[in-house]
Formats: sequence, structure tokens, C-alpha cells
Amino acid sequence: MKPAAEFDPAQDIPEGPRSAPQPEKLRRQRGNEPRPFTFWRGLQTALAAAFVVATLFTLWTPGSLVESSLEMRMAQALQSDLGEEPVGAAADATQEPSATSIGIVSGHYGFDDPGAVCTNGVTEAELNLEIATLVQKSLTDMGYQVDLLEEFDDRLEGYQGRVLVSIHLDSCNYINDQATGFKVAAALSEENLAASQKLTTCLSERYAEVTGLPYHAGSVTDDMTYYHAFSEIDPQTTAAIIEAGFMNMDYTFITEQTDRVAEGIVAGILCYFNN
Ligand SMILES: [Zn+2]
Repeated sequence: MKPAAEFDPAQDIPEGPRSAPQPEKLRRQRGNEPRPFTFWRGLQTALAAAFVVATLFTLWTPGSLVESSLEMRMAQALQSDLGEEPVGAAADATQEPSATSIGIVSGHYGFDDPGAVCTNGVTEAELNLEIATLVQKSLTDMGYQVDLLEEFDDRLEGYQGRVLVSIHLDSCNYINDQATGFKVAAALSEENLAASQKLTTCLSERYAEVTGLPYHAGSVTDDMTYYHAFSEIDPQTTAAIIEAGFMNMDYTFITEQTDRVAEGIVAGILCYFNN
């Protein structure tokens, strides 16, 4: 365990597997060539993404006041999670999906980088896999078709699912006494915005309810918002990444109540399906 004084948040907080193997990246980029892409479209997308991310995580800051119209719509989506009829933008997201499978990415699984490694040798990759396997089992038992995917699974390219959730955990290092809890970021494809918002809201709300963990606002990193799988999957597939807890302060909870971690994620997915 690193002393806090040596901790560099820029290096240690992001757990997303940014350093994909180069050949893999190049192969994927070549695969994308036929898609028309201009500088302006890219800039537009980036700006829209930045705006929405800022809004999403403003809303999820504990104690923040919900004022703007976008935030109001999200608040309506949240209410609809609680049993009311879906309203406005949220209703669009509930259109009958053509794809029926659920993709669960087990963070760092099948990849050289095991993510965070604790001093006792336990890795993020192995804990992610425990959680992901429990999520898969739970949803399969309910009759859903679930694909348990590796971090850089070949099936991610153009993946068509009703939803895709990637499971990660945060640093083993002691950061500070507030470094506890989870956070969620969604894929921000413009054609799928209402659905992404609903998934983020559902996962955040239900995961907090089931696990009792706080939402750790303010530590969503670019590795989450620009998570590689978001640009690989079919744009119609609603996707999110969850950092389900810190492997330092939440370690006991994650390792001894792994079933509740999984249950929280399952509850978020079901909330998304049923509202
Ligand atoms: Zn990770």
C-alpha cells in the first residue's frame, strides 16, 4: 500500500484499461474506416459528450440542486424509476428493443493488465470476475440471455445487446477518508441519450439502495467516459461502466458481500428494463 503522500491521483485513480495493446487498437481503427467521420462531426460529438457528462455528474453530486431543464428531465426519469409512468425523453428509451441479450464486461478479464493490485496480491481483475459471474448467474436464472465478456472481447465489436454494463473497481491505495463508494458513467451516443441517462440513473440509484455505498462524485475519469468499449459496440446498445467500489476502504464489503455488489448491479439493470 502506498503512503498517501506518494499518491498521484492522475496515475492511480483511473482503473480503465486505457493502454490497450497497440495491434488491437490499430485493427479496430481499420475496421472503422468506412464510417464517414469529419473533424466537425467529431468536435460536435465531443462537445455534446462533455456537456452531458458535466450535467450527469452534477445531478449525482449529493446535495446538488436540480434546476436546469435537462436535469429536470433526468429527475423525471428518476421518478419513473420509482413506479410512475415514464415521461418525455425517458419514454423514448423504453421502446421495444430488437436486441435481447445482456452484455457484462468483466473489467480487465482476459487482459494482461489486471487493474489494481492490492498488497495481499488480490487483483481487481479477479474481483471483477467474481462480481460479473454472480451478475451473469442471477440474470440467467431470471431467464435472460447474458454474455460474459472479456475486457477486449472480440464480440464487443458491433455488439448488439439490450444493454451492456462493464464492471470495474477502484484503487487499492489509501487516497483519503472520502475514497469510498461507486460511480457510473454512460456511453454518450447521441442517438441513444435518453436510454443512457436512464441506465445511469437506474444503476446509480439501485446500486446505492442495495449496497448502501455512497456515490463517489467527482472522481469519474476520462477512462470511464471515453471507455473503449463504448465506441466499439453497436451505437444502439445502451451501455454504462460502473466502478463498484474502492478496493481500499470498501475492500471488506466487496470481498465479503460480493453477492450484494452483484445484486446492486442486477437491480440497476432490471430498473432500466422495467421502467
Ligand atoms: Zn479497472
